[in-house]
Amino acid sequence: MANFDDTLQLARLAFASGKTRNVSFRRKQLENLLRCYEEHENEIISALEADLRRPKQESLIVETEFMKNDIKHILYNLAEWVKPEKPDKSFVNLLDDVQIFNDPFGVVLVIGAWNYPLQLLLVPVAAAIAAGNCVVLKPSEIAGNCAKFIAETIPKYLDNDCYPVVCGGPTETAELLKQRFDYIFYTGSPRVGKIVHAAANKNLTPTTLELGGKSPCYIDKSVELRTAVKRILWGKLINCGQTCIAPDYVLCSKEVQEQVIVEAKEVLKEWYGDNIQSSPDLSRIINQNNFQRLLGLMKSGRVAVGGKYDASERYIEPTILVDVKQDDAIMEEEIFGPILPIYTVENAYDAIKFINSRENPLVLYIFTTETEVLDLFVNSTQSGGLCVNDTIMHYAAYLYLNCFPHLSQLLPNKIGKNHLYSTCSQTLKS
Ligand code: NAD
Repeated sequence: MANFDDTLQLARLAFASGKTRNVSFRRKQLENLLRCYEEHENEIISALEADLRRPKQESLIVETEFMKNDIKHILYNLAEWVKPEKPDKSFVNLLDDVQIFNDPFGVVLVIGAWNYPLQLLLVPVAAAIAAGNCVVLKPSEIAGNCAKFIAETIPKYLDNDCYPVVCGGPTETAELLKQRFDYIFYTGSPRVGKIVHAAANKNLTPTTLELGGKSPCYIDKSVELRTAVKRILWGKLINCGQTCIAPDYVLCSKEVQEQVIVEAKEVLKEWYGDNIQSSPDLSRIINQNNFQRLLGLMKSGRVAVGGKYDASERYIEPTILVDVKQDDAIMEEEIFGPILPIYTVENAYDAIKFINSRENPLVLYIFTTETEVLDLFVNSTQSGGLCVNDTIMHYAAYLYLNCFPHLSQLLPNKIGKNHLYSTCSQTLKS
């Protein structure tokens, strides 16, 4: 059994030495991390291909470029962000000098998930470094090639006492969580989120949980359906549906459903050709467990588009299911694969009733050109994000801000500001 006492002891001593409080030191570490991404871009792309058969273009957009821009944004703003704040003064302090200093927490644990194995770990790590913390990096063991890259390459660029990498699965992570951390940043499923939260609670450790959830997509007949279907399928099929903010299921009328199916068949042919399995542009399911889980979900309803699969490649054809019932497994759990069920509703009121009878969505996607319909959703629902007439692109709006929420969570006094995306309970209409 792994024992993390020594690793934690070194990180604690490093933090106590005060070296991470030095802003130049932080800046140097971030510059090194940026250099690591630049010097090893091809290796990163190969690791993602080995784990997920991820197409290069996708890896560039959602991992390497994303991570590079994130660090550049931090480096550009760091001097401003670390300045003490001067809050408004009350009458009592009118003659005083009042300042808020943003102190680092101490030793932070960042636990990553497998679906975006680099950026989900390294973006919060960069924010924690910028905020002056020591950080223990725990990549997901499920994306094994990416975990190997992180364990072997990142330590060549970062201070090893301050930023150790720890590998392993549930057993090792459970052992790691017995240690006392000063902050825990976890990305992954709600099931494991509860375990992480319970472990953190023992020490009252502040925690960020970036969890999953279902993201409904309402379409009405006012929109131009070819474009809507393209945008929905694009959001669904990046990383083969293994994206926390992928549209999870569609809500629409029977009439719209019929047109969606016609359009979807044409769009898929246009994108992937007649033999989708031979296309280089569709990733694969991460492992056999998830592949088998998805085959189980495909038993719900009736296949209207796709439906083919090949276990030897963990390939699942982009699939649309109709006639699903609200208590089918596919309508209950987060799908996390290239399967899109359509649940028919009469109108927007019906859709809202359905959405509100469940956990708040991670993201709510609305396709309508009717302002009244949009207002109805905005005023009657709660969700982590709300994106209108497109999918995923709201995440890009956070690109500019994306390191800031992480950074702010790791700087005391700023917690709660700008937590723009993710956990089901957050509300943001953008
Ligand atoms: P996961 O929960 O299986 O694993 C995540 C991390 O938890 C891994 O590092 C793993 O080693 C660790 N872990 C697994 N089992 C554990 C246990 N029993 N005890 C302690 N640690 C354990 O999650 P996943 O399957 O890797 O990721 C998929 C989930 O993550 C989906 O629900 C998805 O929506 C969510 N997600 C959320 C975001 C977001 O930003 N909100 C981003 C990506 C993924």
